[in-house]
Amino acid sequence: MAKIHELSTILADQIAAGEVVERPASVVKELLENALDAHATQIDILLEEAGVKSIQIVDNGDGIDSEDVPVAFRRHATSKIHDRQDLFKIRTLGFRGEALPSIASVADVRLVTSTGAGAGDELHISGGEIKEQKSAAARKGTDITVSDLFFNTPARLKYLRSQATELSKIVDIVNRLAMSYPDVTFHLSHNGKDLLRTAGNGDLKQVFADVYGIQNARKMLAINGSDNDFTIDGYVSLPELTRASREYISVLINGRYIKNFAITKALIKGYGSKLMVGRFPMAVINIKMDPLLVDVNVHPTKQEVRLSKEAELAELLTRLVSEKLGSINLMPDGYQNL
Ligand code: ADP
Ligand code: MG
Repeated sequence: MAKIHELSTILADQIAAGEVVERPASVVKELLENALDAHATQIDILLEEAGVKSIQIVDNGDGIDSEDVPVAFRRHATSKIHDRQDLFKIRTLGFRGEALPSIASVADVRLVTSTGAGAGDELHISGGEIKEQKSAAARKGTDITVSDLFFNTPARLKYLRSQATELSKIVDIVNRLAMSYPDVTFHLSHNGKDLLRTAGNGDLKQVFADVYGIQNARKMLAINGSDNDFTIDGYVSLPELTRASREYISVLINGRYIKNFAITKALIKGYGSKLMVGRFPMAVINIKMDPLLVDVNVHPTKQEVRLSKEAELAELLTRLVSEKLGSINLMPDGYQNL
């Protein structure tokens, strides 16, 4: 008798969700990436109970066509890539077509969306099962509410940390995305209390101030430069402004917040001996490069990337930082003019 059989779609989605949806912050990250890919300029993130009770994300982006609404919740369904070639030149934050089905398999999801042409659509999907789809009056954009995360996966629910910890992880990802997209207005609130609101006017230093405070923003130096392959711009702190961990260094590649030890190390190297042992600068570094040079298809969460010319990029970054800090030292009263 045959012993091998294919798993049901719902079960397969739940298994996949284990990789993509680890905690409320992963839901927020995926939904924000979708809003940004849809060209939103205003994104509201409304949380209840650190996102465990509910996460609502409202964007004013492109919206989803009526016939695409249920398809968006199928695994490996995406509007962002079409063929193998596309995989090597990814310009969007998403491309795996996994987030919506994964999230919907472990939560209760209500989506209201409109492309601005005709009526909008509303979809209710819970534990991977579509409960209802109907047309709904909606303004252009997408409004998605994820409630009761992990209601049907008790082990996952139990693994969550305290609300304070889960909330801090959400705040962290929103902060980094807000700094990656200074042209977009981000508004974050938790249990009705505002935690972040950015202006969306393209001023990265202003966003840095919104996130880390104006006093710290005043101690940031602009760096920018490029070579044949890379364009770098951003802010690095004066050597006097340091932290006890590398966590305050954000490296963004083509608008994606990534974790890369070599690049972070290169930035720190630019400080030479100006930092005290065990202290690290604050920084936001935006790096633009041809998507061909970066492989983001390394891990489901897309935070790890492989760079083809990592050593060259590291060298450029070290040089830009060190030149900037060197020039500041030549102007003793330069600090006042920052
Ligand atoms: P991916 O982002 O990898 O394509 P998702 O599961 O996150 O996969 O989303 C599936 C599809 O649903 C996307 O490709 C996109 O077409 C559509 N979509 C999801 N969220 C939004 C949104 N906020 N605005 C417009 N379209 C969206
Ligand atoms: Mg996505």
